[in-house]
Amino acid sequence: MNIKTTLQKIKAFITEPIRHEPVFFCLIPLFMFFSHFLYELPEEYASFFHYRNLLIFLSNSVFMSWLLSILIYWTHSKLLKILAYSVMIFLMAVDLFLYFNFQTIMSPWILLLLKETNIQESSEFLEHYLFTDESIICYIIVRVAIVLTCILEKINRKRLSLSRWAQWTTCLILVGFWVIGAYIFSWTARLPLLSSQIELDEWDGQHGGYARHNTPTNLLFSTLFLHASSQEHEYAIQSCFSALNHQATCSEKDSLNVIFIIGESFNKYHCPLYGYPINTTPHLCQEKEKGNLHVFTDAIAPYNLTSYAVKNICSTNSIADHETWFTKPSFMMLFKQAGFYVSLWSNQRIDSDLSSHDYALNSYLYDTRLIPLLYNEYNTKSFTYDLRMVQRFQQYRAKHPRQSHPLNLYVFHLLGQHSNAINRFPHESQFLYFSTDSIKRPDLHESQRQTIADYDNATRYNDKVIKSIMDYFHNTSAILVYLSDHGEVVYDYRNYVGRSHETKKSKEALRYQFEIPCFVWYSNRYEASHPEIVSAIKAAVDKPMSSDDISHTLLNMASIHTPYYHNDRDVLSDQFVVKPRIVQGNTDYDKQIR
Ligand SMILES: [Zn+2]
Repeated sequence: MNIKTTLQKIKAFITEPIRHEPVFFCLIPLFMFFSHFLYELPEEYASFFHYRNLLIFLSNSVFMSWLLSILIYWTHSKLLKILAYSVMIFLMAVDLFLYFNFQTIMSPWILLLLKETNIQESSEFLEHYLFTDESIICYIIVRVAIVLTCILEKINRKRLSLSRWAQWTTCLILVGFWVIGAYIFSWTARLPLLSSQIELDEWDGQHGGYARHNTPTNLLFSTLFLHASSQEHEYAIQSCFSALNHQATCSEKDSLNVIFIIGESFNKYHCPLYGYPINTTPHLCQEKEKGNLHVFTDAIAPYNLTSYAVKNICSTNSIADHETWFTKPSFMMLFKQAGFYVSLWSNQRIDSDLSSHDYALNSYLYDTRLIPLLYNEYNTKSFTYDLRMVQRFQQYRAKHPRQSHPLNLYVFHLLGQHSNAINRFPHESQFLYFSTDSIKRPDLHESQRQTIADYDNATRYNDKVIKSIMDYFHNTSAILVYLSDHGEVVYDYRNYVGRSHETKKSKEALRYQFEIPCFVWYSNRYEASHPEIVSAIKAAVDKPMSSDDISHTLLNMASIHTPYYHNDRDVLSDQFVVKPRIVQGNTDYDKQIR
């Protein structure tokens, strides 16, 4: 067989279903992709790469449409064709309704809301949103789509006959879409094989950015994600209820404030406490100079995904002992059981953004069955900037001076340096410390240096946030632990910003994405009344630790006695045991980093 015949066979293989079903082949990707196109459309200027990405996203829909065209071409089934049109138009209609009314599209949150809505709530919802201007726009688009489909299908009943030239041109254009689309579809095809939340989270991090941009794949992902995370959350809730059968007590003699701050995307190599030459944390450095702050030099996060990292931080499980996060209770519950007043202030609490990661964490932290077990109080709204949340917390405290409660746990979950870091601090001159000139990286061009300057400004703002929490408690008996949920790459070793999800992790990926800043600060009063813990902290700063075990150290700092406390996981204990530190479920950090 010569090359010409082979090419003709390939051409026939690709174009034959399209020649038979040209209208179907063209309209289906349009219906699959239209809502995602609107959702991804930038509000203002977007770069060439943004529009290039939109074409890449579309290619997956084109390939899926080609697969469906083959099915219809082979089966000649009119019913199948009508069914495919109906499903795609329906999914588009749902997305458009959500997009125009709520600026969102299908996600696990939306499915959860649908699942938990009763008939009365549904009818009230429909009454409210059925005839809004936004809904009317949606109906008009759907109607146009249906009419267009009917007209074009009627005109094009006969097989499309194209000239030779037209056939080759169409084929060449399609081949680009076909090859890229087939490649992305190979990721989509793996999706039904994944069952746990972490697998789905990783798939989303690795491939979701390209593969999820069409209604059927997005619906499939949302359904699987909701199912997997609901199962884990159910186990987690059961684990908390089972823990009620065991007592937790506290032997603290003095009053005590334990403060735990979970940071976000803090790359420790952008912090002078770990040798960064730019002074991004002047307040923390000052506290270290005074001797009240101690830096843990060898802390890592077991995951670089917020949801999984934070759930493992909150749970008393230990990954080194092969325990999953949902099989053990949250440390906050044990504090509450031991008589602490527990207060959660999370700036990652859902307000309007209904993405899957926020879903996975928030649906657990704010589960209505867990709230009474875990907290005495929690914030109900989040804030654009972390300092505003801390100020709100201080105002709230001033307005609600409780009868002096001797034992308190305050957990703050910050937005920290979450991407895009430029959005994490107010753009006022007092917060714009660093510019491109501050970043001595001649290997980078100006816009890249600006990104680093933004990140460093966000880090300096974060320093102010933490300092304002310390100041609030510094006259009390207080101990504070800070750690970041994971790190972040900011052009540190390659032309990349964010976190990646490759299976084999390089030393650099481990260093910048999994190593985390972690430190302990205490007030003078705590130092005077807890000399043993203070000397244990000073002795522990270089011990290798993993953030999933931090709950055991917190329990020790608060003198809480519970069967869930394990001294071999607590860096402050003499019985602490160094164990393998496994990241992302498959990589031994200490072996790989050597
Ligand atoms: Zn995070």
